[in-house]
Amino acid sequence: MGKYRSPFKAAAKQTLAFKVKGSWAAGYHTGEDWVCNNTALVSPCSGTVLRNEWDDSYGNFVVIRANDNKVILMAHMKSKSALKVGAGVKAGDAVGTMGSTGNSTGAHLHIEVQNAKTWGYNKNLLKPSDYIDFSDTTNINAQEEAFMAKTYKNGSTTEKVYQTTADCKAGKDAVGSLNTYETCECVGIYDGCYAVVYTLDGTSSKKIGFVKYSGGVK
Ligand SMILES: [Zn+2]
Repeated sequence: MGKYRSPFKAAAKQTLAFKVKGSWAAGYHTGEDWVCNNTALVSPCSGTVLRNEWDDSYGNFVVIRANDNKVILMAHMKSKSALKVGAGVKAGDAVGTMGSTGNSTGAHLHIEVQNAKTWGYNKNLLKPSDYIDFSDTTNINAQEEAFMAKTYKNGSTTEKVYQTTADCKAGKDAVGSLNTYETCECVGIYDGCYAVVYTLDGTSSKKIGFVKYSGGVK
């Protein structure tokens, strides 16, 4: 299979390489450090959230198990991730914000890839950039590109609009509908739902909400 996508949404720079010797417990650097002007972090892979915790060394960190049974750790995040342990994630889903929590002297992402089903310190280490294409910073997949074409056409599917991703996933308590002749812009994907800014028909007021993508957009 190909490499995982970048955990960043823009070009990133490696600031510390894998296995550099130093004062860590392992005696060397167990991952790679990267920085990016855009501090948003996304999942490099589709898979399952295994951990979302605090550690004095790693700060706020998450571990995601990719569907091909490798695990990816992302550390030093600014705050605790909104991801739920046990939840599924898709490559490109929001994970958190790059930060400097734990044993860190400046904002960066420390990322580890392990050839295992669960993460363990200094175990089954792989060189992250052998498995992650840090130049693959696409924010959207082909389906989302279609979604972001912005224009709904008559004859396609009306989308119900929800105020929260929980309501959106449950399909309950819709606050409105996005008709096929209205325009919208997808501004991100959160928890498997599409955040949209849309303009109400005949007005210039803009609203924001979440929709499920039902394939109705051309
Ligand atoms: Zn590091």
